[in-house]
Amino acid sequence: MNKLVDKYGRQITYLRLAVTDRCNLRCQYCMPAHGIDIVKRQELLTYKEMYRITRVLSELGVDKVRLTGGEPFVRKDFVNFLESLSFNKNLKEINITTNGALISKHIEGLEKMKINAVNLSIDSLNREKFFEITRRDVFPQVFQTYQDLLKSNLKLKLNVVIQSGVNTNEIIDFIELTKEDKVSVRFIEEMPFNGKGIREVKEVWNYNKIIKTINSHYDQVESLVSKKSSTSKNFKIKDYKGSFGIIPAFTRTICTDCNRIRITATGLFKNCLFDDGVFNIKEFIRNGASDEELKQIFISTVHKKPKNGFIAEANRGSNSVSESMSTIGG
Ligand code: SAM
Ligand code: SF4
Repeated sequence: MNKLVDKYGRQITYLRLAVTDRCNLRCQYCMPAHGIDIVKRQELLTYKEMYRITRVLSELGVDKVRLTGGEPFVRKDFVNFLESLSFNKNLKEINITTNGALISKHIEGLEKMKINAVNLSIDSLNREKFFEITRRDVFPQVFQTYQDLLKSNLKLKLNVVIQSGVNTNEIIDFIELTKEDKVSVRFIEEMPFNGKGIREVKEVWNYNKIIKTINSHYDQVESLVSKKSSTSKNFKIKDYKGSFGIIPAFTRTICTDCNRIRITATGLFKNCLFDDGVFNIKEFIRNGASDEELKQIFISTVHKKPKNGFIAEANRGSNSVSESMSTIGG
């Protein structure tokens, strides 16, 4: 079988697919409050197109898919799409990233499908702060989803974007959740992908500052062995049931073992989170490309994957990193 391998020998096995650019929340670090440009419906990949792209990639060695967005559950029939993906025998893992506000009623259904894990985004455990961050008063629904997911057979990770001057005082509260709950909390460095929303950064909260804060609070922080391609460095507090990790999304110290590609909701192929889209698959498909032609273009595009996120960013030239994560697929 032809595989997707880049010129640095990294094999691509993981696709992050954004199923929509729409969202029911307006997180400050992701979107401006108003005026986000959502694309016309016909500009979005159809489920049929997404299914085909995933199938072709899975024949080239991709065995893990993350469905994200925008908020995947705002797209009509998303659950049916998940079900159809579950039938792809080449996929070992199907995971979802969601803000959780709309999913409680779907959890039972997800448990019956081949869904492995849900990453739930929750940046504060305080209702008012949560409202301030997301600009929507939906903390009770999201926290209910957290509790329902804990009881389910789905693996659960929490995504917490660390925002200077906003939620850094909750790092320890999040770690305390792992005392009794079998959950993995992952602290993410904030990146400038915010749809040109103005962000005033008072202090840089990077990997080093986050781990230093945690180490100064706890005596017994244990390092965990992570998969080579893991995006997070992982730890636990001795005798706690859950664990926590830090994702150096902005300082980009994880590129050497990258195994990921992204496809945006409009069908842009991204070799790296920090590139500005290297190939338009939607047009290629809509112009009648065969599966074989698709495979060839995927193989040759992946071969050009930049060595790391800094090079990908530099290759953008004057087109600076400012698009919303909701259009990229986080
Ligand atoms: N709407 C879903 C959600 O929030 O989980 C899925 C899409 S969202 C773009 C995926 C992840 O990207 C979320 O965990 C979100 O917190 C994260 N994210 C969005 N903008 C970010 C930024 N500027 N820096 C770091 N992480 C960001
Ligand atoms: Fe929506 Fe997720 Fe972006 Fe928040 S982070 S605005 S929930 S897409």
